[in-house]
Amino acid sequence: MSYKKTILNSGKVVIISHKGPDGDAIGSSLALYFYLKQLGKETIVILPDNFPTYFSWLNGSEDIIIADKDIKIAEKIISSADLIFCLDFNDLSRVGYDLENILKKSKAEFFMIDHHQNPKNFAKYSMSRTESCSTAQLIFNFIEENDDIELINNDIAESIYTGIITDSGSFQYSNVEPETHKIAALFIERGLNHSKVHDNIFKHNKISKLHLLGYALQKIEIIDNCPVAFIALSENEMQQFSASKGDTEGLANYCLSIEGIEVAAFIREDKGIIKLSIRSLEEISVNSFATKYFNGGGHRNAAGGMSNESLEKTVSKFKSEIKNYLF
Ligand code: 5GP
Ligand code: MN
Repeated sequence: MSYKKTILNSGKVVIISHKGPDGDAIGSSLALYFYLKQLGKETIVILPDNFPTYFSWLNGSEDIIIADKDIKIAEKIISSADLIFCLDFNDLSRVGYDLENILKKSKAEFFMIDHHQNPKNFAKYSMSRTESCSTAQLIFNFIEENDDIELINNDIAESIYTGIITDSGSFQYSNVEPETHKIAALFIERGLNHSKVHDNIFKHNKISKLHLLGYALQKIEIIDNCPVAFIALSENEMQQFSASKGDTEGLANYCLSIEGIEVAAFIREDKGIIKLSIRSLEEISVNSFATKYFNGGGHRNAAGGMSNESLEKTVSKFKSEIKNYLF
C-alpha cells in the first residue's frame, strides 16, 4: 500500500527509534530521513540516547538529536510535529521514560514501522511485519510500495544495508529471505560499496573492546545439565575495560555458538539496572521467556529484558527460570 499522499500532505515529520539504538534503529531512521528528503520533506531524527561510535561514519548521523543530551530541544521538536514515525520498536515504553511521556502528550499522528512480535496499538498507521529480518528492510518495502525505488540514492542504500546486516548477523539468521539478498544485489548494482559498510562497522575496533571480549569469553558459564550458556558482567568489570556503547554487542551469540547450547544470554549491569540480551536456536522462543520473566520482548530467537534486582539475584533468577522454561 502506498503512503505517499499521507507523507506529502503532512506537516512537520519526526522520526524516532528505540533506546540503546543499534544498527537497525539508526539505519532505518537515516534511510527514511534521506527518502523523505528526496520527497522534499525536511525531517528530524531523534534517538533517546547515543548510538555506538561505529555508526558515526553514516551520513546524517551528525544531525541526529540525542534526547538524553538535549531533552528540551527534543520536546520542542516533538510538540510541533504532525507526523511521527516510530521505527524498530512497537511499544512506546521502548523509548525510555522521559521521551515516552513527551510522546504521549503529542497530538501528532503516529506511524509505526517495525518487525518485533506483539505490537501495541498506539499508531494510526502501521507496517508491522514480524517475518522481516530488519526494520531497514521494511523501509525498503515502504519506498517500494510508494513506487519510489528510483529515488534510492547512496545514502539510503548505505543506511538500509547497515540495518539489514546488523540485524541479520550479516545475512546469517533464519529470517533472511531471498528478498533480503535481492535488495543487497540491487544496491550493489547501483554502486553501493558493501565492503566499506562492513569495514566501517566491524573493523574499527579499539583494542580495549577486544580485551573486554577476551575477558568476557573467559567468564562463559554453562548451566549444569542444561543447554544454556551465559556471561554476566558488572558495571565495575565493564569500567575496567573502559567499555563504551556497543562494545559488548555479540557476546550472547558467542555463547550460542558453543556446541550443544540452545539458549544463551549476556547479562550486564548498566547504571544500576540489569539488562539481559537473550538468544536461542530454532523453535525455542526467548521472546516469550523475556516477556514473562524480565519485562522485555523482541523476536523468537533474539530478545531482551531487564531487572531491577542485583546482578547476582538476576543471574540466579535467570538460571532457575530458564531451566523451568526449557524442561
Ligand atoms: P539485544 O539483545 O540485541 O539488545 O536485543 C534483541 C532484541 O530484543 C531486539 O530486537 C530488541 O529490540 C529487543 N529488546 C531488547 N531489550 C528489550 C526490552 O527491554 N524490551 C523489549 N520489549 N524488547 C527488547
Ligand atoms: Mn530491528
